[in-house]
Amino acid sequence: MKILVTGGAGFIGSAVVRLAVSRGHEVVNLDALTYAANLENVAGVAESPRYAFEQADIRDRAALDRVFGKHKPDAVMHLAAESHVDRSIDGPGAFIETNVTGTYNLLEAARAFWTGQDRPEGFRFHHISTDEVFGSLGETGQFTEDTPYDPRSPYSASKAASDHLVRAWHETYGLPVVLTNCSNNYGPFHFPEKLVPVVILNALHGREIPVYGDGGNVRDWLYVEDHADALLLCLEKGEVGRSYNIGGENEARNIDLVRTICAHLDEMRPEGAPHDRLIRFVTDRPGHDRRYAIDPTRIRTELGWRPSVTVEEGLKRTVAWYLDNEAWWRPLLDREGVGRRLGTA
Ligand code: NAD
Repeated sequence: MKILVTGGAGFIGSAVVRLAVSRGHEVVNLDALTYAANLENVAGVAESPRYAFEQADIRDRAALDRVFGKHKPDAVMHLAAESHVDRSIDGPGAFIETNVTGTYNLLEAARAFWTGQDRPEGFRFHHISTDEVFGSLGETGQFTEDTPYDPRSPYSASKAASDHLVRAWHETYGLPVVLTNCSNNYGPFHFPEKLVPVVILNALHGREIPVYGDGGNVRDWLYVEDHADALLLCLEKGEVGRSYNIGGENEARNIDLVRTICAHLDEMRPEGAPHDRLIRFVTDRPGHDRRYAIDPTRIRTELGWRPSVTVEEGLKRTVAWYLDNEAWWRPLLDREGVGRRLGTA
């Protein structure tokens, strides 16, 4: 299959690109290369004859038409997005432009291409989204695919809007879409401003590790390579018009996740131990959702998918990866806004 992956230079998109190429698919990676992108993430496949890169912005419809016309993909996997909740609170405009208008442009470009190709039945538009569209849970319960949307941050509202657009393009124009909503990812190549890398890198530098509020916010955590595996499965076997929740079956309070990372660091870098002495509780994020949890029954029963690693094992691999790959993360610390978030500026 020839897959057009948007956002393939980002964290999850690059995992999808690496896995798809390794499985014999052809991949066209379309990415605007924002602050969050890094072509090093796909360096391992860059020389493959099955890989091509197109620098393009999903806000630019003409550029999208050119890419569709040139590469004639069998499927689209749409991951390009502004993705950081804290940045969406500081500056929501970019989230509306990329996540909402950009998705609209991509849907229209895909629809024009698909229609022009006589609407091939096998064509797929796979939209990758987040469990944050469902809002916040109390102590119990889980999000199913039928949970009503209740987004509460500019980021999740923009993703919810994009999900609705994708469904509407299916219902109205018949575009063959599949949607997935996934919980928090972590793993190699995760941009340094996100929670797991912040903890690892601050701990390594002997700097305070900021934890929002009382640390009691609960998230489900999924290893990024497991997510990429689930995404390819949903693309290939998912039912058209259907959405699938993807979770790691690993609910954890933020503070427990942070302590687990510190414990792995204590083992791998004993000279800095105990790293959890660096934990500091900081003023909570406004509108911070208390708990997310995913009911993965549909993907498990209909597609036979389960995550392959526990959060314990995945975090261990992730910590080891950051220790081994300073040449990857060190240059990123100078990028716009990142030092401030890491407490280095
Ligand atoms: P990321 O920020 O690491 O990567 C996003 C990529 O999109 C970057 O390479 C960036 O250059 C590109 N991009 C941004 N704006 C663009 C534009 N206008 N045109 C073209 N490219 C653009 O994000 P991520 O964490 O890899 O997330 C990927 C997708 O998965 C997003 O849609 C996100 O909502 C979704 N998601 C993320 C998580 C998570 O835990 N990170 C969980 C569930 C769903």
